[in-house]
Amino acid sequence: MRTSEIAKRYLDYFEKHGHLIVPSASLISPNPTTLFTIAGMVPFIPYLMGEQTPPKSRMASNQKCVRTLDIDEVGKTTRHGTFFQMLGNFSFGDYFKEEAIHYAYELLTTPQDKGGYGFDPEKLWMTTFTDDEEARSMWKNEGVDPEHIQIMGMEDNFWTTGGPGPGGPCSEIYVDRGPEYGVEGGPIADENRYIEIWDLVFENYEVDNVKSKTDLHIVGELENKNIDTGAGLERLAYLMQGKQNIYETDEVFPVIEAAQKLSGRTYGDDEAMDVRFRIVADHVRSALMIMSDGVRPSNNGRGYVLRRLLRRTVKAMRELGVTDPVMPTLLPTSKAAMEPSYPELNDTFHDVSEAAYGEEDAFRRTLESGTEIFDLAVAKAKESGSDAVSGEDAFKLHDTYGFPIEITLEMAADQGVKVDEAKFRELMAEQKSRARADALKKRHNVDLSVYDDFKKTLVQPIDFLGYTDMSARAK
Ligand code: ATP
Repeated sequence: MRTSEIAKRYLDYFEKHGHLIVPSASLISPNPTTLFTIAGMVPFIPYLMGEQTPPKSRMASNQKCVRTLDIDEVGKTTRHGTFFQMLGNFSFGDYFKEEAIHYAYELLTTPQDKGGYGFDPEKLWMTTFTDDEEARSMWKNEGVDPEHIQIMGMEDNFWTTGGPGPGGPCSEIYVDRGPEYGVEGGPIADENRYIEIWDLVFENYEVDNVKSKTDLHIVGELENKNIDTGAGLERLAYLMQGKQNIYETDEVFPVIEAAQKLSGRTYGDDEAMDVRFRIVADHVRSALMIMSDGVRPSNNGRGYVLRRLLRRTVKAMRELGVTDPVMPTLLPTSKAAMEPSYPELNDTFHDVSEAAYGEEDAFRRTLESGTEIFDLAVAKAKESGSDAVSGEDAFKLHDTYGFPIEITLEMAADQGVKVDEAKFRELMAEQKSRARADALKKRHNVDLSVYDDFKKTLVQPIDFLGYTDMSARAK
């Protein structure tokens, strides 16, 4: 079953059960503390918090998400994408735990020829919150083997917003891929063999004094209880399509095929190279989707995340042996694979591709000059008996050649050497304070009073928490 068909079945199922189906919101998060939409529930926060009245008390969507927190996992685990789609059904003071559990189990286990996903019940495992005996008995009532229902604590199976407000236990659904993928014993024992596909959050408490996930105070029961669920579309797709990981599904794999052709290498021959193929496929797709929502490469915020994705793609392709431009092949391939689900990609593709190709050209020039200097720095370090590129050299690469520190770190790791990062950071801080002092000097030479009124009207700066604060979801 194609990925788009899996999404359609989800939305059809929940529409049949009275849900209003809404299109995905933009990847540009409406929440000022995160750069991107990181979960299906993000656009529904005003309804979940009771701040706005929803158009209907049951809704469902297939939401585009970007999580940069998972970037180091990409290509290495079977299940983490920087871009992915989260299916979700939501109840705002309408149905609660019993129905949420029933809907999920019914959709997962109904045979494919009857409109469901056809998972073998024997392969499904659930985790539940320590105190949530109710959820455990509801799963049993659905027919789940009691041995497949595990218990997890506050850290894993309790959701809060990170501050005072709604909170509640969750229950996660996993699929057992079989003994060849790891040890027995359920998700508690092995999260690579048992793949988390769906998280059901039961928001029934009001909490305050949220010092940490394990130190909070439950004030009482909420008057209006909510349901917030999130199912990973790519994870469902890889399991249902009999693939090894999310990068081999129909919406992602064509980029791996195109990268094989460009590099003359075969995916599946060598694990280290396979990781690079998977990084390329993931990052090209994320870059395409982020750019289509209006972001362009830059040196900060979303633009910087995008720049990193594009640069990591180019770097991975070089490691696969391709030094010619790759974006003009890979980007249209990704667009063609995503188009059945997102026909609107066509509207912006001309501008998106021009920006991506321009970014690749600029980075290729940077790489060419920087790689030589980097190799010299490694040779110098080795000659002097050190196992680390000096902080001064890392700084020079950054400052003179525009070589991002992340690339220096990655290239050093590839060559089995370290980087004196502490010294690099020290030099960066020194440079910053020099620049600040210079700016101050200049400022004192001109009359800036004209800007004072303007400054008062500026919006307050926002602390960016997107890399660290994932409290918008259960974990
Ligand atoms: P994991 O622990 O496996 O990283 P999670 O607990 O962070 O997942 P949730 O925040 O509960 O995941 O998200 C709901 C669902 O979205 C998950 O059950 C999973 O199917 C999917 N999902 C989460 N992160 C990713 C990702 N980076 N790539 C693909 N799917 C994801």
